[in-house]
Amino acid sequence: MRCKWYDICPLRRFERAGKLAEVWANDYCKSDNNWENCRRYQLEEQGVYHPDNMLPDGQVDKSL
Ligand code: SF4
Repeated sequence: MRCKWYDICPLRRFERAGKLAEVWANDYCKSDNNWENCRRYQLEEQGVYHPDNMLPDGQVDKSL
């Protein structure tokens, strides 16, 4: 079961623009349960702000 935020996650926009490799979606967003370990997911659950260009491992990619 993929992440509940999959369709509206900002990372989809970066993927469509060819700026972000799909490995992130495969390893986190579309994984069976690894989305629980996504920093974006965790912060969203806590209601804590996180920028659109934060990757699932928590690093902020300034090229996005
Ligand atoms: S980046 Fe994180 S919050 Fe966004 S869809 Fe992937 S697993 Fe979910």
